[in-house]
Amino acid sequence: MEKNDYILPLYNRLDISFIKGKKSILYDENGKDYIDFASGVGVNSLGYANKKIVKTIKEQTKKVVHTSNIYRIKSQEKCAKKIVELSTYNMQCFFCNSGAEANESAIKLARKYGNTAFETPKYKIITIKNSFHGRTIATLKATAQEDKHKYFAPYPDGFIYANDINDAISMIDDTTVGVMLELILGEGGIFMQDILEVQKLEKVLKEKKLLLIIDEVQTGVYRSGNFLISQYFGINPEIVTLAKGLASGIPIGVMMTSLKDIFSFGDHGSTFGGNHLSTTVCNKVLDILEKYSNSGKLSENIKYFNSCLQYFVETYPNIFLQKNGFGFMQGLVIKDEIDLNDIINLALKNGVLILKSGKNIIRFLPPIIISKSEITQGFQRFEDTILSL
Ligand SMILES: *Cc1c(COP(=O)(O)O)cnc(C)c1O
Repeated sequence: MEKNDYILPLYNRLDISFIKGKKSILYDENGKDYIDFASGVGVNSLGYANKKIVKTIKEQTKKVVHTSNIYRIKSQEKCAKKIVELSTYNMQCFFCNSGAEANESAIKLARKYGNTAFETPKYKIITIKNSFHGRTIATLKATAQEDKHKYFAPYPDGFIYANDINDAISMIDDTTVGVMLELILGEGGIFMQDILEVQKLEKVLKEKKLLLIIDEVQTGVYRSGNFLISQYFGINPEIVTLAKGLASGIPIGVMMTSLKDIFSFGDHGSTFGGNHLSTTVCNKVLDILEKYSNSGKLSENIKYFNSCLQYFVETYPNIFLQKNGFGFMQGLVIKDEIDLNDIINLALKNGVLILKSGKNIIRFLPPIIISKSEITQGFQRFEDTILSL
């Protein structure tokens, strides 16, 4: 692809530009349509041009987009209540604008807790190999992929990496304040943690009054079928972070916590975070998704999506090794000799958008509201892709 003179070359972009979308279908400049199994990397939970969201954005921008957190923001208050109720956790929310910021907020909160709740300060956060927690200096260092750390030292101290949950338990020492965890590794292979192991970790942490921090930036907002995947794990984390799917494309992040009296005025904040527009849209998105989930449609379509993926694993053992993942966060592991980029490019030609995770895994993150017929059509195009390899 030709280089752009004015944009830093940070992304390996596909040479395609979409100009509009409808439901879970995108259209390029030539009018060609694409079934979206990627949803802007887990962001467009309601797909494209949802009428209620269009109306909400339009109406809100006519009133007020931003004031600042030096004033009350009623839509933010409502949004926090809704998120806490859906989570079923006894928590309070802090609003920011991205996943990295939500995790950065979690790290700051954990640090203050570690520095104030114990006689000797605790600060170390354990994260899991191949995790992804963001690209700011602190969240990059929290991301346990050391090849990504090469050029940006020095980093803040206090992050150590465990191979797995049991390893994390064995690494806890007097300076550990908590463990930060994705319950499904999003960038790191769509690997889902074992429920019993996570419960064991929680028990060890709780006994020591240490923190379980769950990064639900990708797994959250109904991607698992539940509002949060941590609910499915039957755990009670002290901190949960959210972002991607919360407002179906409007930037927003949330750090929610049961530690309601650690932060005080001035410890943390955000200029844009939780403004009128993002939280009004978030309220609408959550209303729609809650109803949709309660209707049973979501779990029905997740089941169908799963059975399609199962078909591919069974029908093409020469290409796929296995299926990973849960809910609408799925991965197909491909054999080493097959080039993942070839599949992604061919899929694009065939009119279906897919993602990668790790080195050899096709990642599927469709819009939460994707319909059965869109799923069928997407997988037909995916099969054409596989047959043309
Ligand atoms: C995407 C992602 C992040 C980072 O979110 P940004 O909005 O890109 O900063 C952090 N954690 C997980 C698990 C993610 O999937």
